[in-house]
Amino acid sequence: MKKKFDLNPIIKTLQKVLPQAQKSIALHEPQFDGKEWAYVKKCLDSGWVSSVGKYVSLFEKQLAEYTGIKHVIAVVNGTAALHICLQLAGVRAGDEVLMPTLTFVATANAVSYCGAVPHFADSDEKTLGLDPLKLGDYLKDITELRTEGCFNKKSGRRIKAVVPMHTFGHPVDMEPLLDVCQKFGLVLIEDAAESMGSLYKGYHTGSWGRLSVLSFNGNKIITTGGGGAILTNDTSLPALAKHLTTQAKLPHPWAFNHDLVGYNYRMPNINAALGCAQLEKLPEYIRQKRALALRYQEAFTGIEGVKIFKEADFARSNYWLNVLLLDKEYSCERNKLLELTNNQGIMTRPSWTLMHKLIMYEDCPRMSLACAEDLERRLINIPSSAVLTDLNIVNSTFTEERQG
Ligand SMILES: *Cc1c(COP(=O)(O)O)cnc(C)c1O
Repeated sequence: MKKKFDLNPIIKTLQKVLPQAQKSIALHEPQFDGKEWAYVKKCLDSGWVSSVGKYVSLFEKQLAEYTGIKHVIAVVNGTAALHICLQLAGVRAGDEVLMPTLTFVATANAVSYCGAVPHFADSDEKTLGLDPLKLGDYLKDITELRTEGCFNKKSGRRIKAVVPMHTFGHPVDMEPLLDVCQKFGLVLIEDAAESMGSLYKGYHTGSWGRLSVLSFNGNKIITTGGGGAILTNDTSLPALAKHLTTQAKLPHPWAFNHDLVGYNYRMPNINAALGCAQLEKLPEYIRQKRALALRYQEAFTGIEGVKIFKEADFARSNYWLNVLLLDKEYSCERNKLLELTNNQGIMTRPSWTLMHKLIMYEDCPRMSLACAEDLERRLINIPSSAVLTDLNIVNSTFTEERQG
């Protein structure tokens, strides 16, 4: 089975696409080339740096306009946003919540914060996200519908919700997943932490779930330093979301009264100021990142043993992180390729360790996870910063001039 395989053409192709840099090329770097300094200065000058101030509501309004989702609540990070969404969805201690095993640990941790149990589902090769058809078949086998909801016949626990995640920016196939949710009475919460700016059938990711989540961590397509948002079209939810994220304090000019166990999860004004500036640049970043993805796809055409992952027909991806997939028979070369590229100053990394392999989640319920396990063996993320496109345009004209 194991063929002799030359990794050099892969390295050469990466070097051809990427600018010749003095230092190593990061996987994903933030860019602050807009009005960041101006807005942050205004924020400091105003004295309102914390959870009250005009940038928080401005950022929320602009996010709602950009995504087309009615209500936005800005919070301290994406993980906190997930925690609140699960609570608002009615997830309680002892429930199970479905999610892909191929995700970042935050998706599973947020479920644990609720005292609930992650239940791991397989991935779809076409999207790298949750496979809705496989999930539907599996639930048919293992669940029982009662008046109180959908129950796992094996564990006896209620399955309350499903959290698909748009992996590396690529939208999950949402329509069949909506059917599954309807059939089994599951609340849909989208983890869109990586897919700001990605569309499914023309609508922003996050538009399909009852609730959804964005992240503005330093490594995401736009950043507020740390930050996240809860999004929903359901008018009954935003007031409670805001209340829960601000210590459940009852409004009063001086008295401190609280009617729930709340959280200090509100996004500070200074982070929101950064966010407003970043959001202005987002369309340009998406254009640059899609151009970089196309360049990778073209450069790797005809290179043996690998493919660059491409968005599905129904998707317009932000290409947050580009994915290089080794052919199945060459998966044994993954670690070697990781080592060679990192040694050459091209930062690459494997997928996250699958959730069901982490020590705290190894006993959680799961279906057969064959596709996710196969993807984990073959998947490598390659440098994807928006800025890499334009540097390279400068670079290639420069080379042409020198050659011509
Ligand atoms: C980044 C990320 C989160 C959480 O975001 P933070 O803002 O870092 O808390 C959640 N889920 C996924 C899939 C992510 O990539």
